[in-house]
Amino acid sequence: MQRVSILGSTGSIGVSTLDVLARHRDRFEVFALTAASRWQTLRDQCLEYGPRYAVMSDPRAAEQLRHALHEAHSAVEVLSGPAALEQVAACAEVDCVMAAIVGAAGLLPTFAAVKAGKRVLLANKEVLVMAGNLFMAEAKRSGAQVLPIDSEHNAIFQCLPLTVSLGQGIALPQLGVSKIILTASGGPFRDLPVAQLGQVTPEQACNHPNWDMGPKISVDSATMMNKGLEFIEACWLFNASASDVEVVIHPQSVIHSMVEYVDGSVLAQLGNPDMRTPIAHALGMPERLVSGVERLNLVANARLDFEALDEERFPCMALARQVAQAGGTMPAALNAANEEAVAAFLANRLRFNDIARVIARVLEKFDSTEPADLAVVQSADACSRRRAQEVIEHLGGKQ
Ligand code: NAD
Ligand code: MG
Repeated sequence: MQRVSILGSTGSIGVSTLDVLARHRDRFEVFALTAASRWQTLRDQCLEYGPRYAVMSDPRAAEQLRHALHEAHSAVEVLSGPAALEQVAACAEVDCVMAAIVGAAGLLPTFAAVKAGKRVLLANKEVLVMAGNLFMAEAKRSGAQVLPIDSEHNAIFQCLPLTVSLGQGIALPQLGVSKIILTASGGPFRDLPVAQLGQVTPEQACNHPNWDMGPKISVDSATMMNKGLEFIEACWLFNASASDVEVVIHPQSVIHSMVEYVDGSVLAQLGNPDMRTPIAHALGMPERLVSGVERLNLVANARLDFEALDEERFPCMALARQVAQAGGTMPAALNAANEEAVAAFLANRLRFNDIARVIARVLEKFDSTEPADLAVVQSADACSRRRAQEVIEHLGGKQ
């Protein structure tokens, strides 16, 4: 029996993870479920999966959950606050941690899992963007097994030799790899005239053609900052330099990414766009588990198209490439500014095409340093958020 903690169990990835686990109750036991504030959803999950712990970051929501579970005669223990998130991620009884909190809020609990040497199923890409050097070094030290959940990185991982262990510092040239090819759907605004990007609504931005995801990553997919974050994520996970990674638009999202080898072979992983495939892959490794995902119908899909990415239409991709090359705390600053700008856009305080402007202005004045420890990263994050709020205020006022 493997014991699993799910950080962010009420989100899109969390729910898909529970769906896969429910198909394999003989192999996995849910140890802890966590959420920010949606206590009713967490209550229902607790009643269905009977974890040992439920953690709510919001203490008032925790109190409501405690009361509701007590009423339902449930034995689940309710904890609250950031320290409890770290506790259920690092606890000695846990084998596997699904890191599926969105954004910088996942930094410390995901780190706690890595420090404790767990099998870490990494959905929270922002953690690697903020502190990839510290994260990978810690995995090497602790022996934590890092398994990518992001569909592109999971696809790349599947196209590498089975013996590759990501935490342990792989060398792509030694594997004969000449390039990593990240595919991108292009999001909902791939063909929208650029002049109309200022008017798009949060609802339109969250309406992704191929994937059903949480609001923040949906907006990131529409700006293509998601691909920018994934570009940085790929560099850290696969020990690659920026020039080893290419992005190509593939509107059907059937090929989830590819690896090119020196002999001219290009290996791809295909499947229907459903996160239960990478989740099942990482949960079962090295075995394959049934995931509930519908089989890919090649004839019905019929076409696989590819086109180059237009960085003028999607300036966030260019910004991410720049910070990947600059290094230091620049990626952490980019991530923080993006989180603030996306939240402002979702709250109708900022136009869609001002998201990239906010990030660019924050980066212009940002003093990058060496991300020597988490405190340095957190301070870069806080500083960038403050500056982003100033810029948002300024740009938002002009709406
Ligand atoms: P979501 O918004 O649907 O869910 C986020 C989860 O995090 C929820 O359970 C929420 O309660 C929790 N959370 C939010 N803020 C928190 C806080 N301050 N403290 C504690 N918990 C908090 O997001 P999602 O789409 O499931 O994405 C989760 C992560 O996985 C993101 O980093 C995203 O980039 C990554 N990811 C998602 C997908 C996808 O298909 N949804 C694909 C690839 C990668
Ligand atoms: Mg992805």
